[in-house]
Amino acid sequence: MVKQTINYIKLICIATVLILTIMTVRYRPAYAVMQNNEIIGYVSSKDKFQKNIDENILKTEEENVAFVSLDRVDYSLEFVSRDLINEEEIITDLKEKSKNIYQVYEVSNGDEEESVFFNSENEANEYVANLKEEYNKIDTELSITTLYVENEVNEEVIQEAKAKIQEKLEAELKQKEEEEAEQRRIESQTVNGIYLACLPVTGGSISSRYGVNESVRNHTHKGIDIAASYGTPIKATANGTVKYAGYYGGYGNFVIIDHGNGIETCYGHCSSINVSAGKSVEAGDVIAKVGSTGNSTGNHCHFEIRVNGTQVNPQKYLYK
Ligand SMILES: [Zn+2]
Repeated sequence: MVKQTINYIKLICIATVLILTIMTVRYRPAYAVMQNNEIIGYVSSKDKFQKNIDENILKTEEENVAFVSLDRVDYSLEFVSRDLINEEEIITDLKEKSKNIYQVYEVSNGDEEESVFFNSENEANEYVANLKEEYNKIDTELSITTLYVENEVNEEVIQEAKAKIQEKLEAELKQKEEEEAEQRRIESQTVNGIYLACLPVTGGSISSRYGVNESVRNHTHKGIDIAASYGTPIKATANGTVKYAGYYGGYGNFVIIDHGNGIETCYGHCSSINVSAGKSVEAGDVIAKVGSTGNSTGNHCHFEIRVNGTQVNPQKYLYK
């Protein structure tokens, strides 16, 4: 009976050892590698594996790559079949899932839609400096921003974006230049703060200039003569009030408009007059028609600008 019990215990011991041996041969503790709460494989050493990731995935020699992006890896200690340990497979898998991240430099011109991306900071700096120099007449809002992206910038895309920015800046520059030209024109047509907005006669030609001595009169010419066909409209060159409208000796039918600030404009030899003294006129209003009344040898408008009663050369302001 005792012998039988001893044999039974022996058998249990042998079985246990056998089972343990089989267990140890087939199973072992290992780390489950997880990404996004999903087991992607098993490794025997967490540290060794992490080093493998660092050296073979995260470290890169590729040009322009700022860093390699990889989703976080977690570990959990488990007792698993040795067959499941597959470190190299996991590395290959993670390497495929990893992404190269490039540092690029975005040059934008205020507006978010207008931007160029460069792979190199130097290129971006140079581009901005060149544009600022080329378009120094306008207030460019060029700025550089560093961004991390998954793709390098393609040269074709760079050229297209550059063209867009250039086009916008060209348009701004053109507008600025036009505004400046218009401003200069307005300033050049302004006498004592009075803007001479239009010509008294459009389409005529200058037949006698200010200052000339001609046999038709016994003094130097105090205005300019604009020859035009009979009946051509004569317009007020600026806003003002009619000071005189009627026949006036050698001037024939004559209109004087007072514009304020000591400025008057005068229109002589008219065939007819459309306004009367005291009437307000605006620049461009037809005040009379071209004729040859008074001391005149042909159809023309004698035009004067008077500053505090003294005639000045109208061509300093109009018909330049
Ligand atoms: Zn004249």
